[in-house]
Amino acid sequence: MADQVSADARLVHAGTRRQPGEPVVQPPVLASILASVGEPGAGDYGRGGNATWTALEHALGAIEDAEAVLFSSGQAASMALMLALARGRDTILLPRDGYYNARALADRLRPHGATPVLVDLQDLAAIERELTASAGRAVLWAESPTNPLLRVADLAALGRLAAAAGTPMIVDNTVATGLLQQPLDLGAAASLCSLTKSASGHSDLILGAVMTRDPALAEDLSSWRALGGGIAGPVEAWLATRGLKTLPLRIERQSATALTVARHLAGHERVRAVHYPGVNADTLTVASAQMPRGFGPLLSFELTGSAADADAVVAAARLIVPASSFGGVESTWERRGRWAGETAPDSLIRLSVGIEPAADLIRDIEQALGRP
Ligand code: PLP
Repeated sequence: MADQVSADARLVHAGTRRQPGEPVVQPPVLASILASVGEPGAGDYGRGGNATWTALEHALGAIEDAEAVLFSSGQAASMALMLALARGRDTILLPRDGYYNARALADRLRPHGATPVLVDLQDLAAIERELTASAGRAVLWAESPTNPLLRVADLAALGRLAAAAGTPMIVDNTVATGLLQQPLDLGAAASLCSLTKSASGHSDLILGAVMTRDPALAEDLSSWRALGGGIAGPVEAWLATRGLKTLPLRIERQSATALTVARHLAGHERVRAVHYPGVNADTLTVASAQMPRGFGPLLSFELTGSAADADAVVAAARLIVPASSFGGVESTWERRGRWAGETAPDSLIRLSVGIEPAADLIRDIEQALGRP
């Protein structure tokens, strides 16, 4: 029976209970200690475990057919993963156009003996050269689609190169989520997701998780979490579990709307370039194969004009909220280059499409671009 249940249905039911008298959904367990005598269990002291996390980890695991380890943020998950994989390795290959705080975090590993090397994930020959040069002592930190340029990497091809070199591949799957893309089926040792974004979907919490089918890695990550203390709050875990149940509905709608908006922007006189997997002809075949259900809520576009012009467009929106992050039910946008450390072009606006009707968003974009 369990095999006949789809991942979407398993996601909705993960953590639900059917014993008479029990709450059907896991309530937040607001406790730092559980009463216990003798050998302690994992959650007897709250840094080791919490039933609210466990419910969320079951739901996340159901999406990717894996074990999930929950952390206090996407960055806490990345740090634990980098540290867990550091033993015996001295190089971390990262996309030069990916999430800039992954690069900043990897840079902090230098004093501990690991060197970040920036790569173009679309250049398979260059990746193969780097993997060969590192002689099995590297971690390949992939991201697809990337934030904020939405570049798509061929994850199956990267997974094959990593396997041939004896290198673990990690995929930051935050933009797609496990609903749209399954990195563990494409050769990744672990998939990382900031739950702050689409996975929770309501712009009201910060959390992250790592999904893996390697029990030893999951165990190691749990131990880094317990020792490092990057644990989730029970209220955030409860909210994320609740948000996750509607992820399939939200992300399919957001993907369809984002495609409509991207196509609209592509024909706009004030727009120099649009970045979205669904409109980028160069990678459309790969993107469609590895993201068969849609391309997600995030797109970006470059305005013809200066950073100040882009700031003015962002400020002129009446419906789209000027804010960072992405994946919420409400559409948000920002000029990405306003963050120190971001390498996106100056006039690039990153738009996260919410669940509003496409026509409302297009009307707002038009008036913000100066064509009311
Ligand atoms: N990975 C990507 C692709 C992100 O965009 C972010 C945050 O923006 C993170 C990881 C880090 O997640 P968090 O903000 O939950 O720490």
